[in-house]
Amino acid sequence: MLMENARAKGAIVQEEVSIKELIKENERVVGVRGQTKTGEPIEYRAPITLDCSGKEAFAVGRNHWRVRDPYLNKVAVWTYYKGAMRDPGIDEGATTVAYVPEKGWFWYIPQHNDMVSVGVVAEGKYLTRDGVKTPEAIFKRETEQNSWINEHLDCGKQTGPYFVINEYTHHAKHCAMEGLLLVGDAFCFLDPVFSSGLMFALKSGVLAGDTVHEGILANDLSPQRFSAYSRTLRTGVENMRKLIYAFYDPKFSFRDLTDKYPDAVGEVTDCLSGDVNKDFSQLWKWVEEFVSLPEPLPVGEPLIRSDVTIAKAAHFGAEVVNLGQLKIPDEIIATVPAQIAKKYRIIPIQKHNGTLTIAIADPSDLDTLDSLAHLMRMEISLQVASEPDIEMALNKYY
Ligand SMILES: Cc1cc2nc3c(=O)[nH]c(=O)nc-3n(C[C@H](O)[C@H](O)[C@H](O)COP(=O)(O)OP(=O)(O)OC[C@H]3O[C@@H](n4cnc5c(N)ncnc54)[C@H](O)[C@@H]3O)c2cc1C
Repeated sequence: MLMENARAKGAIVQEEVSIKELIKENERVVGVRGQTKTGEPIEYRAPITLDCSGKEAFAVGRNHWRVRDPYLNKVAVWTYYKGAMRDPGIDEGATTVAYVPEKGWFWYIPQHNDMVSVGVVAEGKYLTRDGVKTPEAIFKRETEQNSWINEHLDCGKQTGPYFVINEYTHHAKHCAMEGLLLVGDAFCFLDPVFSSGLMFALKSGVLAGDTVHEGILANDLSPQRFSAYSRTLRTGVENMRKLIYAFYDPKFSFRDLTDKYPDAVGEVTDCLSGDVNKDFSQLWKWVEEFVSLPEPLPVGEPLIRSDVTIAKAAHFGAEVVNLGQLKIPDEIIATVPAQIAKKYRIIPIQKHNGTLTIAIADPSDLDTLDSLAHLMRMEISLQVASEPDIEMALNKYY
Protein backbone atom coordinates (compact mmCIF):
# COMPACT_ATOMS: atom_id res chain seq x y z
CA MET A 1 0.00 0.00 0.00
CA LEU A 2 2.77 2.41 0.99
CA MET A 3 4.77 1.53 -2.14
CA GLU A 4 1.76 2.10 -4.37
CA ASN A 5 1.08 5.40 -2.66
CA ALA A 6 4.71 6.45 -3.14
CA ARG A 7 4.50 5.52 -6.85
CA ALA A 8 1.25 7.44 -7.24
CA LYS A 9 2.96 10.47 -5.70
CA GLY A 10 5.72 10.29 -8.31
CA ALA A 11 8.48 8.39 -6.50
CA ILE A 12 10.53 5.87 -8.46
CA VAL A 13 10.07 2.63 -6.54
CA GLN A 14 12.57 -0.16 -7.19
CA GLU A 15 11.68 -3.51 -5.69
CA GLU A 16 13.77 -6.65 -5.22
CA VAL A 17 17.05 -4.77 -5.14
CA SER A 18 19.49 -5.71 -2.42
CA ILE A 19 21.82 -2.96 -1.19
CA LYS A 20 25.31 -4.21 -0.41
CA GLU A 21 27.46 -1.14 0.09
CA LEU A 22 27.44 2.56 0.96
CA ILE A 23 29.45 4.54 -1.58
CA LYS A 24 31.75 6.87 0.34
CA GLU A 25 33.90 9.53 -1.26
CA ASN A 26 36.05 11.79 0.85
CA GLU A 27 34.29 10.59 4.03
CA ARG A 28 30.92 11.47 2.53
CA VAL A 29 28.15 9.02 1.60
CA VAL A 30 27.25 9.73 -2.00
CA GLY A 31 24.98 6.76 -2.69
CA VAL A 32 24.62 2.99 -2.54
CA ARG A 33 25.61 -0.06 -4.57
CA GLY A 34 23.54 -3.17 -4.79
CA GLN A 35 22.25 -6.00 -6.90
CA THR A 36 19.01 -6.69 -8.70
CA LYS A 37 17.14 -9.95 -8.25
CA THR A 38 18.90 -11.33 -11.32
CA GLY A 39 22.34 -10.41 -9.97
CA GLU A 40 23.00 -7.29 -12.05
CA PRO A 41 24.99 -4.61 -10.23
CA ILE A 42 23.15 -1.39 -9.62
CA GLU A 43 24.27 1.97 -8.27
CA TYR A 44 22.33 5.00 -7.04
CA ARG A 45 23.85 8.38 -6.28
CA ALA A 46 22.10 11.20 -4.43
CA PRO A 47 22.83 14.32 -2.39
CA ILE A 48 21.52 12.38 0.62
CA THR A 49 20.91 8.69 1.24
CA LEU A 50 18.22 7.69 3.73
CA ASP A 51 18.85 4.35 5.39
CA CYS A 52 15.42 2.84 6.11
CA SER A 53 16.64 -0.75 6.27
CA GLY A 54 14.74 -1.61 9.46
CA LYS A 55 16.29 -3.84 12.09
CA GLU A 56 19.04 -4.85 9.68
CA ALA A 57 20.30 -1.29 10.36
CA PHE A 58 22.56 -1.40 7.32
CA ALA A 59 24.61 1.77 7.92
CA VAL A 60 24.83 1.18 11.68
CA GLY A 61 26.52 -2.14 10.95
CA ARG A 62 28.85 -0.75 8.27
CA ASN A 63 29.81 2.29 10.39
CA HIS A 64 30.12 0.34 13.68
CA TRP A 65 27.56 2.61 15.28
CA ARG A 66 25.56 -0.02 17.17
CA VAL A 67 25.11 0.89 20.85
CA ARG A 68 23.75 -1.72 23.22
CA ASP A 69 21.23 -0.73 25.84
CA PRO A 70 22.68 -1.35 29.30
CA TYR A 71 19.21 -2.07 30.69
CA LEU A 72 16.94 -3.39 27.95
CA ASN A 73 19.17 -6.25 26.90
CA LYS A 74 16.48 -8.89 26.41
CA VAL A 75 16.59 -11.92 24.16
CA ALA A 76 13.74 -12.90 21.82
CA VAL A 77 13.10 -16.47 20.64
CA TRP A 78 10.36 -17.03 18.12
CA THR A 79 8.90 -19.19 15.38
CA TYR A 80 5.74 -19.56 13.25
CA TYR A 81 2.69 -21.80 13.58
CA LYS A 82 0.18 -22.76 10.92
CA GLY A 83 -3.46 -23.24 11.92
CA ALA A 84 -3.05 -22.04 15.52
CA MET A 85 -6.13 -20.74 17.33
CA ARG A 86 -7.53 -17.33 16.42
CA ASP A 87 -10.13 -15.24 18.18
CA PRO A 88 -13.57 -15.37 16.50
CA GLY A 89 -14.97 -12.75 14.09
CA ILE A 90 -13.45 -9.33 13.78
CA ASP A 91 -10.77 -10.16 16.38
CA GLU A 92 -9.21 -12.99 14.38
CA GLY A 93 -6.22 -10.78 13.54
CA ALA A 94 -5.80 -9.38 17.05
CA THR A 95 -2.29 -9.30 18.45
CA THR A 96 -1.99 -10.62 22.01
CA VAL A 97 0.72 -9.96 24.57
CA ALA A 98 0.82 -12.78 27.14
CA TYR A 99 2.82 -12.06 30.28
CA VAL A 100 5.37 -14.31 31.92
CA PRO A 101 4.94 -12.81 35.39
CA GLU A 102 8.01 -10.87 36.53
CA LYS A 103 10.11 -12.34 33.72
CA GLY A 104 8.98 -11.21 30.29
CA TRP A 105 6.22 -11.69 27.76
CA PHE A 106 5.00 -13.51 24.66
CA TRP A 107 3.79 -11.96 21.44
CA TYR A 108 1.11 -13.80 19.50
CA ILE A 109 0.50 -12.18 16.11
CA PRO A 110 -1.93 -13.73 13.59
CA GLN A 111 -0.71 -13.21 10.03
CA HIS A 112 -1.84 -14.04 6.49
CA ASN A 113 -2.14 -17.64 5.16
CA ASP A 114 -3.30 -18.89 8.55
CA MET A 115 0.14 -18.32 10.06
CA VAL A 116 0.85 -16.98 13.52
CA SER A 117 4.14 -15.43 14.64
CA VAL A 118 4.79 -16.32 18.26
CA GLY A 119 7.78 -15.38 20.36
CA VAL A 120 9.00 -14.98 23.90
CA VAL A 121 11.07 -12.04 25.17
CA ALA A 122 12.99 -12.19 28.47
CA GLU A 123 16.46 -12.01 30.03
CA GLY A 124 18.93 -14.41 28.42
CA LYS A 125 19.83 -15.76 31.88
CA TYR A 126 16.21 -16.64 32.58
CA LEU A 127 15.59 -18.27 29.19
CA THR A 128 18.72 -20.43 29.39
CA ARG A 129 18.33 -21.43 33.05
CA ASP A 130 19.28 -25.02 33.90
CA GLY A 131 21.50 -25.21 30.83
CA VAL A 132 18.72 -25.09 28.22
CA LYS A 133 20.44 -23.54 25.21
CA THR A 134 18.82 -24.24 21.83
CA PRO A 135 16.13 -21.84 20.60
CA GLU A 136 13.77 -24.78 20.09
CA ALA A 137 14.19 -26.13 23.63
CA ILE A 138 13.87 -22.63 25.12
CA PHE A 139 10.73 -21.94 23.10
CA LYS A 140 9.11 -25.27 24.01
CA ARG A 141 9.77 -24.92 27.72
CA GLU A 142 8.37 -21.38 27.84
CA THR A 143 5.25 -22.16 25.79
CA GLU A 144 4.48 -25.20 27.93
CA GLN A 145 4.56 -23.01 31.03
CA ASN A 146 2.14 -20.43 29.68
CA SER A 147 -1.37 -21.86 29.60
CA TRP A 148 -2.84 -19.20 27.22
CA ILE A 149 -0.07 -19.64 24.65
CA ASN A 150 -0.06 -23.42 25.06
CA GLU A 151 -3.79 -23.65 24.49
CA HIS A 152 -3.64 -21.39 21.41
CA LEU A 153 -0.76 -23.27 19.79
CA ASP A 154 -2.14 -26.72 20.57
CA CYS A 155 -4.25 -27.03 17.39
CA GLY A 156 -1.52 -25.56 15.15
CA LYS A 157 1.63 -26.98 13.56
CA GLN A 158 5.04 -25.42 14.15
CA THR A 159 6.53 -24.37 10.80
CA GLY A 160 10.07 -23.37 9.78
CA PRO A 161 13.07 -22.65 11.99
CA TYR A 162 13.26 -21.22 15.48
CA PHE A 163 14.86 -17.76 15.54
CA VAL A 164 16.79 -15.99 18.24
CA ILE A 165 17.88 -12.35 18.61
CA ASN A 166 20.15 -11.18 21.39
CA GLU A 167 19.92 -7.56 22.50
CA TYR A 168 16.59 -6.96 20.91
CA THR A 169 16.84 -3.23 21.70
CA HIS A 170 19.47 -1.27 19.80
CA HIS A 171 20.50 2.35 19.38
CA ALA A 172 22.72 4.12 16.84
CA LYS A 173 25.65 6.22 17.96
CA HIS A 174 24.78 8.79 15.28
CA CYS A 175 21.63 9.55 13.30
CA ALA A 176 23.52 11.05 10.36
CA MET A 177 26.84 11.81 8.73
CA GLU A 178 27.75 13.68 5.58
CA GLY A 179 25.30 12.44 2.93
CA LEU A 180 23.48 9.93 5.16
CA LEU A 181 20.44 9.91 7.45
CA LEU A 182 19.03 6.98 9.44
CA VAL A 183 15.26 6.53 9.67
CA GLY A 184 12.95 4.15 11.56
CA ASP A 185 14.30 0.92 13.06
CA ALA A 186 17.55 1.60 11.22
CA PHE A 187 18.11 4.41 13.75
CA CYS A 188 16.70 2.85 16.88
CA PHE A 189 14.60 -0.12 17.91
CA LEU A 190 13.15 -0.51 21.39
CA ASP A 191 11.99 -3.70 23.04
CA PRO A 192 8.58 -4.09 21.39
CA VAL A 193 6.52 -4.80 24.53
CA PHE A 194 4.49 -1.64 23.94
CA SER A 195 4.48 -1.93 20.14
CA SER A 196 6.31 1.35 19.67
CA GLY A 197 8.16 0.29 16.49
CA LEU A 198 5.68 1.47 13.87
CA MET A 199 4.96 4.68 15.72
CA PHE A 200 8.66 5.61 15.84
CA ALA A 201 9.21 4.51 12.24
CA LEU A 202 6.34 6.71 11.02
CA LYS A 203 7.31 9.63 13.25
CA SER A 204 10.91 9.55 12.07
CA GLY A 205 9.81 9.12 8.45
CA VAL A 206 7.68 12.26 8.57
CA LEU A 207 10.35 14.22 10.43
CA ALA A 208 13.10 13.03 8.11
CA GLY A 209 10.98 13.97 5.06
CA ASP A 210 10.33 17.46 6.40
CA THR A 211 13.96 18.05 7.44
CA VAL A 212 15.40 16.83 4.14
CA HIS A 213 12.86 18.94 2.24
CA GLU A 214 13.93 22.04 4.18
CA GLY A 215 17.59 21.13 3.60
CA ILE A 216 17.06 20.83 -0.16
CA LEU A 217 15.35 24.23 -0.26
CA ALA A 218 18.21 25.76 1.74
CA ASN A 219 20.79 23.88 -0.35
CA ASP A 220 22.24 22.55 2.87
CA LEU A 221 22.05 18.87 3.75
CA SER A 222 24.95 18.96 6.18
CA PRO A 223 24.69 16.63 9.21
CA GLN A 224 24.20 19.64 11.51
CA ARG A 225 20.74 19.99 9.98
CA PHE A 226 19.69 16.72 11.60
CA SER A 227 20.49 17.69 15.20
CA ALA A 228 16.90 18.67 15.95
CA TYR A 229 15.68 15.50 14.19
CA SER A 230 17.87 13.43 16.48
CA ARG A 231 16.89 15.30 19.63
CA THR A 232 13.16 15.02 18.94
CA LEU A 233 13.37 11.30 18.26
CA ARG A 234 15.74 10.53 21.11
CA THR A 235 13.51 12.44 23.57
CA GLY A 236 10.57 10.31 22.48
CA VAL A 237 12.63 7.12 22.59
CA GLU A 238 13.90 7.93 26.09
CA ASN A 239 10.36 8.50 27.36
CA MET A 240 9.17 5.17 25.96
CA ARG A 241 12.36 3.50 27.19
CA LYS A 242 11.61 4.61 30.78
CA LEU A 243 8.16 3.07 30.59
CA ILE A 244 9.55 -0.19 29.20
CA TYR A 245 12.23 -0.25 31.85
CA ALA A 246 9.63 0.19 34.61
CA PHE A 247 7.53 -2.60 33.08
CA TYR A 248 10.39 -5.09 33.45
CA ASP A 249 11.20 -4.15 37.04
CA PRO A 250 9.52 -6.61 39.44
CA LYS A 251 9.12 -3.81 42.02
CA PHE A 252 6.90 -1.84 39.66
CA SER A 253 3.24 -2.29 38.77
CA PHE A 254 1.06 0.04 36.73
CA ARG A 255 -1.80 -0.79 39.11
CA ASP A 256 0.17 0.46 42.16
CA LEU A 257 1.17 3.59 40.27
CA THR A 258 -2.32 4.52 39.15
CA ASP A 259 -3.89 3.59 42.52
CA LYS A 260 -1.58 6.09 44.20
CA TYR A 261 -1.67 8.68 41.39
CA PRO A 262 -4.88 8.42 39.33
CA ASP A 263 -3.66 11.21 37.02
CA ALA A 264 -0.86 8.89 35.91
CA VAL A 265 -3.45 6.95 33.85
CA GLY A 266 -3.68 9.77 31.31
CA GLU A 267 0.08 10.30 31.24
CA VAL A 268 0.87 6.63 30.67
CA THR A 269 -1.84 6.40 28.01
CA ASP A 270 -0.44 9.44 26.20
CA CYS A 271 3.04 7.94 26.12
CA LEU A 272 1.81 4.51 25.00
CA SER A 273 -0.37 6.00 22.30
CA GLY A 274 2.56 7.85 20.72
CA ASP A 275 2.46 11.34 22.23
CA VAL A 276 6.04 10.62 23.30
CA ASN A 277 7.43 14.15 23.10
CA LYS A 278 5.15 15.52 25.80
CA ASP A 279 6.72 16.73 29.06
CA PHE A 280 6.44 13.66 31.29
CA SER A 281 8.56 14.97 34.15
CA GLN A 282 5.69 14.64 36.65
CA LEU A 283 5.02 11.06 35.57
CA TRP A 284 8.69 10.10 36.03
CA LYS A 285 8.68 11.63 39.53
CA TRP A 286 5.73 9.42 40.42
CA VAL A 287 7.26 6.32 38.82
CA GLU A 288 10.57 6.92 40.60
CA GLU A 289 8.82 6.47 43.94
CA PHE A 290 8.57 2.80 42.95
CA VAL A 291 11.61 2.18 40.80
CA SER A 292 14.69 4.14 39.71
CA LEU A 293 14.71 4.99 36.01
CA PRO A 294 17.62 4.82 33.56
CA GLU A 295 19.53 7.92 32.51
CA PRO A 296 19.14 8.92 28.85
CA LEU A 297 21.81 7.38 26.62
CA PRO A 298 24.19 9.98 25.14
CA VAL A 299 23.65 8.83 21.56
CA GLY A 300 22.05 9.88 18.29
CA GLU A 301 23.64 13.25 17.47
CA PRO A 302 24.81 13.52 13.85
CA LEU A 303 28.46 12.82 13.17
CA ILE A 304 29.91 16.21 12.38
CA ARG A 305 33.39 16.15 11.01
CA SER A 306 34.38 19.04 13.18
CA ASP A 307 37.19 17.22 15.00
CA VAL A 308 39.55 17.39 12.06
CA THR A 309 38.42 20.89 11.19
CA ILE A 310 38.89 22.10 14.77
CA ALA A 311 42.36 20.55 14.96
CA LYS A 312 43.42 22.20 11.68
CA ALA A 313 42.03 25.56 12.78
CA ALA A 314 43.72 25.37 16.20
CA HIS A 315 47.04 24.57 14.54
CA PHE A 316 46.86 27.77 12.50
CA GLY A 317 45.30 29.91 15.25
CA ALA A 318 42.15 30.35 13.14
CA GLU A 319 38.48 30.13 14.07
CA VAL A 320 36.15 27.37 12.88
CA VAL A 321 33.12 28.52 10.92
CA ASN A 322 29.91 26.63 10.22
CA LEU A 323 28.90 27.88 6.78
CA GLY A 324 25.51 26.15 6.95
CA GLN A 325 24.51 28.53 9.71
CA LEU A 326 25.71 31.74 8.00
CA LYS A 327 23.78 33.94 5.65
CA ILE A 328 26.52 35.64 3.64
CA PRO A 329 25.42 38.92 1.99
CA ASP A 330 25.49 39.05 -1.82
CA GLU A 331 27.96 41.95 -1.83
CA ILE A 332 30.48 39.87 0.13
CA ILE A 333 30.03 36.90 -2.20
CA ALA A 334 30.50 39.26 -5.17
CA THR A 335 33.96 40.22 -3.85
CA VAL A 336 35.32 36.92 -5.12
CA PRO A 337 34.43 35.91 -8.68
CA ALA A 338 32.91 32.45 -9.03
CA GLN A 339 35.82 31.00 -11.02
CA ILE A 340 38.29 32.04 -8.30
CA ALA A 341 36.10 30.77 -5.44
CA LYS A 342 35.68 27.43 -7.22
CA LYS A 343 39.30 27.13 -8.28
CA TYR A 344 40.67 27.77 -4.77
CA ARG A 345 37.65 26.29 -2.98
CA ILE A 346 37.12 29.26 -0.70
CA ILE A 347 34.08 31.22 0.49
CA PRO A 348 34.33 34.93 1.33
CA ILE A 349 32.50 35.58 4.60
CA GLN A 350 33.39 39.10 5.69
CA LYS A 351 35.20 42.26 4.53
CA HIS A 352 36.54 44.82 6.94
CA ASN A 353 39.16 47.60 6.64
CA GLY A 354 40.67 46.13 3.49
CA THR A 355 40.86 42.62 4.95
CA LEU A 356 38.84 39.85 3.39
CA THR A 357 37.93 36.93 5.68
CA ILE A 358 37.54 33.67 3.82
CA ALA A 359 36.54 30.15 4.80
CA ILE A 360 38.88 27.44 3.59
CA ALA A 361 39.12 23.73 4.39
CA ASP A 362 42.90 23.52 4.36
CA PRO A 363 44.60 26.45 6.12
CA SER A 364 48.02 24.92 5.39
CA ASP A 365 47.58 25.58 1.65
CA LEU A 366 49.94 28.58 1.54
CA ASP A 367 50.07 28.67 -2.27
CA THR A 368 46.35 29.26 -2.41
CA LEU A 369 46.56 31.98 0.21
CA ASP A 370 49.44 33.76 -1.56
CA SER A 371 47.66 33.58 -4.91
CA LEU A 372 44.46 34.88 -3.41
CA ALA A 373 46.10 37.83 -1.67
CA HIS A 374 47.76 38.68 -4.96
CA LEU A 375 44.60 38.30 -7.04
CA MET A 376 42.29 40.09 -4.64
CA ARG A 377 44.80 42.79 -3.70
CA MET A 378 43.63 42.52 -0.13
CA GLU A 379 44.85 41.16 3.16
CA ILE A 380 43.40 37.70 3.65
CA SER A 381 42.21 36.48 7.03
CA LEU A 382 41.28 32.83 7.53
CA GLN A 383 38.52 30.83 9.10
CA VAL A 384 38.35 27.07 8.73
CA ALA A 385 35.31 25.11 7.48
CA SER A 386 34.94 21.41 6.70
CA GLU A 387 35.38 20.37 3.07
CA PRO A 388 31.71 19.28 2.69
CA ASP A 389 30.68 22.65 4.16
CA ILE A 390 32.78 24.44 1.51
CA GLU A 391 31.29 22.24 -1.21
CA MET A 392 27.78 22.98 0.03
CA ALA A 393 28.45 26.74 0.18
CA LEU A 394 30.03 26.80 -3.30
CA ASN A 395 26.89 25.19 -4.67
CA LYS A 396 24.70 27.54 -2.74
CA TYR A 397 26.39 30.85 -3.52
CA TYR A 398 28.07 30.34 -6.90
C1 LIG B 1 6.67 -10.16 13.67
C2 LIG B 1 6.71 -8.68 13.97
C3 LIG B 1 5.60 -8.08 14.55
C4 LIG B 1 5.62 -6.72 14.82
N1 LIG B 1 4.50 -6.17 15.40
C5 LIG B 1 4.48 -4.84 15.64
C6 LIG B 1 3.32 -4.25 16.19
O1 LIG B 1 2.33 -4.91 16.49
N2 LIG B 1 3.34 -2.90 16.39
C7 LIG B 1 4.43 -2.14 16.08
O2 LIG B 1 4.40 -0.93 16.27
N3 LIG B 1 5.53 -2.68 15.54
C8 LIG B 1 5.59 -4.02 15.33
N4 LIG B 1 6.72 -4.57 14.79
C9 LIG B 1 7.85 -3.70 14.52
C10 LIG B 1 7.61 -2.92 13.22
O3 LIG B 1 7.33 -3.84 12.19
C11 LIG B 1 8.86 -2.11 12.88
O4 LIG B 1 9.21 -1.29 13.98
C12 LIG B 1 8.61 -1.20 11.66
O5 LIG B 1 8.19 -1.97 10.56
C13 LIG B 1 9.88 -0.46 11.30
O6 LIG B 1 9.71 0.19 10.07
P1 LIG B 1 10.96 0.54 9.18
O7 LIG B 1 10.38 1.20 7.97
O8 LIG B 1 11.98 1.24 9.97
O9 LIG B 1 11.60 -0.87 8.78
P2 LIG B 1 10.96 -2.13 8.06
O10 LIG B 1 9.48 -2.09 8.06
O11 LIG B 1 11.63 -3.32 8.70
O12 LIG B 1 11.44 -1.98 6.56
C14 LIG B 1 12.80 -2.13 6.21
C15 LIG B 1 12.85 -2.59 4.76
O13 LIG B 1 14.18 -2.50 4.30
C16 LIG B 1 14.48 -3.65 3.57
N5 LIG B 1 15.94 -3.88 3.62
C17 LIG B 1 16.72 -4.11 4.70
N6 LIG B 1 17.99 -4.23 4.34
C18 LIG B 1 18.02 -4.05 2.99
C19 LIG B 1 19.06 -4.09 2.03
N7 LIG B 1 20.34 -4.29 2.37
N8 LIG B 1 18.74 -3.89 0.73
C20 LIG B 1 17.46 -3.64 0.36
N9 LIG B 1 16.44 -3.62 1.22
C21 LIG B 1 16.71 -3.82 2.53
C22 LIG B 1 13.71 -4.76 4.29
O14 LIG B 1 13.54 -5.87 3.42
C23 LIG B 1 12.42 -4.04 4.60
O15 LIG B 1 11.52 -4.11 3.53
C24 LIG B 1 6.73 -5.94 14.51
C25 LIG B 1 7.85 -6.53 13.89
C26 LIG B 1 7.83 -7.90 13.65
C27 LIG B 1 9.03 -8.54 12.98
